[in-house]
Amino acid sequence: MSDVELVLRSTRVITPEGTRAASVAVSGGTITAVLPYDADVPSAAHLEDLGDHVLLPGLVDTHVHVNDPGRTEWEGFWTATRAAAAGGITTLVDMPLNSLPPTTTVENLRTKKEVAADKAHVDVGFWGGALPDNVKDLRPLHEAGVFGFKAFLSPSGVDEFPHLDQDRLAQSLAEITSFGGLLIVHAEDPHHLDAAPRHSGPKYADFLASRPRDAEDTAIAQLIAQAKRLRARVHILHLSSSDALPMIAAAKAEGVRVTVETCPHYLTLTAEEVPDGASEFKCCPPIRESANQDLLWQALADGTIDCVVTDHSPSTADLKTDDFATAWGGISGLQLSLPAVWTQARRRGHGLEDVVEWMSARTAALVGLGQKGAIEAGRDADFAVLAPDETFTVDPAALQHRNRVTAYAGRTLYGVVKSTWLRGERIAAGGEFAEPSGQLLTRPS
Ligand SMILES: [Zn+2]
Repeated sequence: MSDVELVLRSTRVITPEGTRAASVAVSGGTITAVLPYDADVPSAAHLEDLGDHVLLPGLVDTHVHVNDPGRTEWEGFWTATRAAAAGGITTLVDMPLNSLPPTTTVENLRTKKEVAADKAHVDVGFWGGALPDNVKDLRPLHEAGVFGFKAFLSPSGVDEFPHLDQDRLAQSLAEITSFGGLLIVHAEDPHHLDAAPRHSGPKYADFLASRPRDAEDTAIAQLIAQAKRLRARVHILHLSSSDALPMIAAAKAEGVRVTVETCPHYLTLTAEEVPDGASEFKCCPPIRESANQDLLWQALADGTIDCVVTDHSPSTADLKTDDFATAWGGISGLQLSLPAVWTQARRRGHGLEDVVEWMSARTAALVGLGQKGAIEAGRDADFAVLAPDETFTVDPAALQHRNRVTAYAGRTLYGVVKSTWLRGERIAAGGEFAEPSGQLLTRPS
């Protein structure tokens, strides 16, 4: 242990083999060993004794809309990555929309990286976008290091990011599969959305009826069929409809290369509790009924759903009007995702190990980041330190998000993030932040 610089000691360290008392040795930003709790600490090393606070691998959030440049008033790299750090997230992967430009060409990717470079408090990677007219850009973007490609099957909410019809989906998917890439999909079928009843106004039930489950179910069925036909690798974004779970489970059992994520808001908020006009709860697909939520939890437990990501998608407060039909659809949850999920998970009999699996190990695996997602020798020394039994009441004023509109306001949550560490450096603790030291990540080849 002669060159060890830092030792983090806790009675509860979450490792791939389980939770145990341990001392984690760090050198050069990398975990060099997970040692017995009472291992000798070299005199040159700094000992950080965390007591009974839990040491877990920093979370990897693969679904974040940073919106920078172009809609920086909605969210920017400085604010988003600070919020991530405050919430125990050490890596985020930025969605290709709603920034201007969207990440749909190599040049646009370069623009985004230039903007992000000196603002990243955590590590940041990028998804590319698959549009009807950019098939030729997909391979160059893949070679430039994006982690995969996002497509919509119904209108995205912003004009510059049009959706793919089934023919364009097949074309993009074939191209992406030709170089071994990953397509991640917002799966709602536009025809079912068009056919659904539409009423403007403040009633959540009207909004819910306008985004029916069968829109999700149909789009997912079509995507699975395409993935099967092309032997393609696809990932279903933000699953809300539990009706789609049996066919996803069947596809997985059959060997179709499909993975699935859901989000903290689907797991912790319910349609029944959304107040009239409270469009901070609006997202697409929508938050559904509590019986639906129970089935999502069951699917997480049995592995049909692979992972949990925030889909942090903020806007300015003025776009969150009390008309559900026209208000911006997107929920801000970056800083709160760990305590929100943990609060429900513990109520449902899950351990923190499960939360780490869903929000760190499997999301890191989704994007092939072998150096993230676990506390073990050889991985990056990225950590969150959590007091899992402490509670706090969500005060929007305490959020680092640029716009402090949140569906979680006033809720009491379990799990206080005491500090967050990136490559062995403490980047956030007690509302204080280090200077940005995040790296811009490229897909490992
Ligand atoms: Zn999203």
